[in-house]
Amino acid sequence: MDGAEVFLFGTQEINDKGHLTIGGCDTAELAKEFGTPLYVVDERLVRDTCKAYIAEFGRRVDRVEVAFAGKALLTTAICRVMDQEGMALDVASTGELYTAVKADFPTGRVKLHGNFKSDELLTAALGYGVGRIVVDSLSELERLSRIAGEMGKDADILLRVGPGIKTQTHSYIQTGQADSKFGMSIASGAAMEAIQLALSLPNLNLRGLHCHIGSQLFGLDSFARAVDMMMDFITQVRDEAQWTCDELDMGGGLGIAYTPEDAPPTVAELADVICPALTQAASARDLPMPKLILEPGRSIVGPAGTTLYTVGPVKTIPGVRTYVSVDGGLSDNPRPALYEAEYTALVANKASQARTMAARVAGSHCETDTLIPDTTLQAVEEGDVMAVFCTGAYNHAMASNYNRFRRPAMVLVMDGQADLIYERETLEDLVLHDVMPGRLSEDGQ
Ligand SMILES: *Cc1c(COP(=O)(O)O)cnc(C)c1O
Repeated sequence: MDGAEVFLFGTQEINDKGHLTIGGCDTAELAKEFGTPLYVVDERLVRDTCKAYIAEFGRRVDRVEVAFAGKALLTTAICRVMDQEGMALDVASTGELYTAVKADFPTGRVKLHGNFKSDELLTAALGYGVGRIVVDSLSELERLSRIAGEMGKDADILLRVGPGIKTQTHSYIQTGQADSKFGMSIASGAAMEAIQLALSLPNLNLRGLHCHIGSQLFGLDSFARAVDMMMDFITQVRDEAQWTCDELDMGGGLGIAYTPEDAPPTVAELADVICPALTQAASARDLPMPKLILEPGRSIVGPAGTTLYTVGPVKTIPGVRTYVSVDGGLSDNPRPALYEAEYTALVANKASQARTMAARVAGSHCETDTLIPDTTLQAVEEGDVMAVFCTGAYNHAMASNYNRFRRPAMVLVMDGQADLIYERETLEDLVLHDVMPGRLSEDGQ
């Protein structure tokens, strides 16, 4: 990114001091008030994106449900925003489920995912009255049937099937191909076997089918192909098992722009591919239209998140490059290390200045934790505030305490107001679960 090119999202603006603002809040002030690193979430953009999903799909098909994939970013306040926007919620662990429950999220609108759900998790899900359990294996079907029977309940389930679609994305986030740990493949016959088993076992209501083909997807043709594969399979199931699929969950996966070069499809463009594909497939095969379920995660919260860092030492190695260190890195954003994910940065307190300085943005862990390998920044100095964009998804959610760093605070900003939604972890938090065995204590007791 060169010159003074602007790469802003949602409510982001540059004020007359030349500072980046988000939700009407000056980011230099936010850094001062809450400290850094700081995750800033643009509440308006999150809400607008939820509304866009519900409106764009809702105007194209009669029955639609949009579930936020909680793994992208989950705190109790985020659950509350999703509830207020009329979203459903996907969870994939006991902890995510517990977070939803603590936020009083209506559990009937929660769906439980995962390729290995423990008995504890299935029991908790049934106990809390989770709306749908998305069953991932034959053995899970049997365990769930038994647990539901013991609890005197019926479980409403979807089956996760693998449509066998290989998507254009990082191999770590491809999930719909034949060679995958997720779901049961159509091609191998496992999906059909699962349907027969689900229909024969007691205490299970098979409501529909689910697939999720991958994440950070830009190619809409993969979604259209997935709809076709699923509808072909649904036709086969109707003919062979006399079961009609009432709910079709197409998962999440819409990509976002991490750099100015990225041009992801809009929500409307996604709806314009999925909805006609579904309507046409249903009428061509003489099937009733299933309820359409979507599960966006990244596209709901990714662009709404910005991480603020304080700039530390700036080192120029003559003839090599300039390193700009920030007070976070691998622990608050593992994605560059995991996926070679790309990010874009801005010196938040010099946002209106031209980009003149070639630099590498490095984290502060005992690793080569490069955040951005090659970028051009405003003339950055120690003490400046650096904003890294598009960190709303899979950053806080994947954060760790590596090097015993404290996880950053997170604030929700809107209309000039900033509210803390995740407290910065404390030093005490870091030693809270450390245990000193008696034989190591000073008096030997
Ligand atoms: C991760 C995941 C999603 C969300 O994916 P995004 O790419 O963040 O939209 C949806 N459904 C399932 C089952 C997932 O595993």
